[in-house]
Order: sequence, then C-alpha cells, then structure tokens
Amino acid sequence: MPGARISSVTLSPLYVPLKEPFVISLGPIAAVENLVVQLVTEDGRTGWGECSPYRTINGESIHTCLAVGKEIAQLLKGRDSSDIADAIAAMDGLIYGNSSIKSAFDMALFDLAAQAAGQPLFAFLGGKKDKRLQTDMTVSIGEPAKMAADAERFLREGFPFIKVKLGQELERDLARIRAIREVVPMNIPLRIDANQGWQNPDNAIRVLNALAPFGIEHCEEPIPRWQFLDLARVSAESPIPIMADECCGDEHDAERLIRLKACPMFNIKLGKTGGLYKALKVATLGAAAGIELQVGGFMESRLGMTAAAHLALANDAIHHCDFDTPLMFTEDPIDGGITYAAEGTIEVPDTPGLGAKVKAEWLKESWSI
Ligand SMILES: [Mg+2]
Repeated sequence: MPGARISSVTLSPLYVPLKEPFVISLGPIAAVENLVVQLVTEDGRTGWGECSPYRTINGESIHTCLAVGKEIAQLLKGRDSSDIADAIAAMDGLIYGNSSIKSAFDMALFDLAAQAAGQPLFAFLGGKKDKRLQTDMTVSIGEPAKMAADAERFLREGFPFIKVKLGQELERDLARIRAIREVVPMNIPLRIDANQGWQNPDNAIRVLNALAPFGIEHCEEPIPRWQFLDLARVSAESPIPIMADECCGDEHDAERLIRLKACPMFNIKLGKTGGLYKALKVATLGAAAGIELQVGGFMESRLGMTAAAHLALANDAIHHCDFDTPLMFTEDPIDGGITYAAEGTIEVPDTPGLGAKVKAEWLKESWSI
C-alpha cells in the first residue's frame, strides 16, 4: 500500500556555539553548523532529520549540504514517503558521496515511516529495549594537564567510559595518557581516537604498544584512511583492539574491511553511511562477521543523536555508544529525544517515530519548497 506523498521540504541551518572548542588531530571546531531537514506529508505529518557535515572527514560543509539538499528536496517532493529504498536510490542517482546531507533526508524518511507504523523508531528498525545504552565522554586533544583536568571532571560527573583524542607524536600522546591515568583509576576504561594521526602503520604500532600498559579499551582509526590495506597488520601487532572509523563509511567499505580482516571493531555514524538505511546494512554485515560495533556521530544535536540511539537498539552487535556531542553545546535546541541520565545512561523515547524535533525559535533562516 503506498504511503503519503511528500508535499513540502524545508531546510534550516542550525548554529549552536560550543562551550569550548572541540579539538581532534584533524583540527578544531568552535561552533556547530548543522542542517535540519523537515519533510511534510500530504496527510500533515512532519519527519525530522539532521546532519552535521565535518569538512575534514566527509568533505561536506553547511554550504554543500544546503546546495545539494535543495536538489534532493526537488527530487523527493511528490514521492511516496514510505518508499525509503526508492528515495535512497534516487539520491545516489543524483550525486555520489555527500553522505551527510543524504543522512538528514534518510532520517526524516524513517521518522515518517515509523510514525505511520505507530512505532518508536527503534521498534520499527526491529530493535527492542533489551540493553542499557551508556555514552562515553570525550576529552579534546591538547596540553596534558588540561586533558587530565577534563578527564577528572568527566569521571566526577559519572561517565563510565572516557574517550581521549590523540594522534600526534608518540612522546606527546604518551604524556597525555600518563597525565590522565594519574587522575583516572585503571578500573575506568579509556578509549582513544587517533583520527588517522599516526601517519603510517609502523609508527602506529609503536605508539599503540607504548600506550597499551595504560588500560586502553580500544583505539579508533590509528592510520590515514587511505592506508586501509595496512590496517590488518596494525590490528595484528597492536595489543589494543582497533576500531575502523573514517575508513568505514557505507556498507561497501564495511565489506572491504571485513574481507581484509582489517580490524575487530567498527564505528558506525549516520553521517558516514548516508543514514539509517545503509547503517543497518553495515551493522548486519559487521554482526555476521563477528565485528564488535559502536555507534557514534559528528557534532549532531540531540535530534541526530536520537536517531543514532534508536539505531543502537536495532542490532545486538552494537555495544558501544559515543553520543556525547550534544553535552558540549551551550544551548539545547531540541524538544523531546534522548535524555542523559546518571552514569552516561541514554533514555530513548517511546513516542512513534524519532520522537524529537527542533524548537521553532532555532529555525529562523529556512528554505522551503
Ligand atoms: Mg573516531
């Protein structure tokens, strides 16, 4: 049975300053520049989506998202909102890549479909609330003393896992982890993320071996993404389990990494897969190959992170959550959605659909057709 047609599309930039710059080895981010998509159907429902383009990771910005988003809006207007596979194929037929902006449309389509089914999105995706979601909290890369102070604060705030941004010279990264371990006891797992910064496999193996005694749970993306052929060797020679992030975008990347036996863990982000439709494929492929999965994000608000949390409930192989960025915002522009409880616990809404929307006052400059 066909679903309601899409009668209008609205695109709105969402700008929110961060409490302090978020810094990774690829550079700093001072403010969030996201794009919000609203799909309205002929029967009067609104599907919400958001993306957070990350220039140095997926090659998109608020400007490219707006430009490509206008073309996608024209393509999807008038189509059956329930035929998500058809919409995904149409977007991929229009333009290669651009996974961020595509993910915002995908999210809004899934919101509409789950609303139409009268189910919360996680149930619509085949999931149930049979596990506890707990987010880590991330320490930006910087001076060791500042990083240790941040880690200590997150520990006091009750976060069960602390993620540390690294990816520079061995001595500097070692000093950072040493300083953090002086204030964070060994029973609290540290996760690290080099964001491709350790330059080559030999250097990465050297750094990973030096960091191993400090109780590191896993390490994201140790080497440049284009060196994925060498990731299996890094994994074999690293005492710390390796998680693919930047080199694992859509399901085709996932399949390639699985065939290469590149690493035991993947980090799934909607902004890399192009949305939930392909994220589910990555999760299915990963689960079948025995890959341990994390769901994370870029700088999404609680809207985008709510979609990520619904996804995290949809596959048993998803064990780790990295949903901390909304906690770095100076203000919260979202109504509904996930909430953050003690110990980094994430509560996912039971309302039909995504269960989150952007407060009207945050959607001033908009473009609609
Ligand atoms: Mg990462």
